Amino acid sequence: MEPLSSSPRALVRGPRGALLRATEPRPLGPGQARVRVLLAGICRTDLHAAEGLLPVPEGRALGHEFVGEISEIAEESNMTLGQRVTATPLLPCGACGGCEGDGGCWAPRMLGVDHDGAFASSVVVPWRALFEVPRSLPLRRAAYTEPMAASLAVLKAPIAPDQRGLLLGVNRIAELTRRVLESRGFHRLKQLPAGAPLPRDTYDFAIETVATDATLDGLLRAVRPGGCLVLKSRPPAPVALDVALAVRRDLRLHAVGYGSFREALRLLHEFPVEDLLGEVLPLDRFEHAFALARGSEAAKIFLEPT
Ligand SMILES: [Zn+2]
Ligand SMILES: [Zn+2]
Repeated sequence: MEPLSSSPRALVRGPRGALLRATEPRPLGPGQARVRVLLAGICRTDLHAAEGLLPVPEGRALGHEFVGEISEIAEESNMTLGQRVTATPLLPCGACGGCEGDGGCWAPRMLGVDHDGAFASSVVVPWRALFEVPRSLPLRRAAYTEPMAASLAVLKAPIAPDQRGLLLGVNRIAELTRRVLESRGFHRLKQLPAGAPLPRDTYDFAIETVATDATLDGLLRAVRPGGCLVLKSRPPAPVALDVALAVRRDLRLHAVGYGSFREALRLLHEFPVEDLLGEVLPLDRFEHAFALARGSEAAKIFLEPT
């Protein structure tokens, strides 16, 4: 019998947290690609999924940030075997009006939550979700495309570089978002930790990276009347929002998911992220890797499946 370390395996949600399991590669469906995973980053969403804070069934492979190489692909695709790729974790259904047009899928499935994820020897995704990764891009940077695209998303909000802005949170995604905004000329940006007392009526816009009942309440008052609150985080459960307060103050609420993955890949060649990229651990050491990821928001921890 082959040792578990060289046969296909996946880190799945178990009854009590994550567990490593041998897997059988399934045949590809139409429009799908199999990608051999080279490196995958651990994100807060993955920790929530492993802990059961998100509705993830037992046995589902976790992980949604990765870089890999195409090992098998549906015939009609315009990509090739061996191509290095990453993916948007919001997998298009391929059947709705959004998928038929170019507005994006109306009911995407989240990789590692609604669909088997990338903490595995290989991951199967629609090839239309893939983006080519240049071989010149170091693997940790390539596996960091999703957080980069998530930070670029704030640029979709109606905010401008000369405005007074507040960035709430001191976690890794807040840090990356601050660097994105500063690189685009936002020079009146204040960053405060969640829980810090916030001044009232002070900012033209605020961006939250930690949404709780309390942080949202503070932010609705910290933004001046007519200003914009950008919703950025993905809390695992609903949080309360004082709609009447937002209405009285004529606030604009703008929720953003992802910016362009192509732009993220282009930026990652040069963008200062080196200090945000942490240790690489083999998939076997996932317990240690998860403990590191849980313990500190300073640097991204990566798993290497093969
Ligand atoms: Zn993520
Ligand atoms: Zn769709």
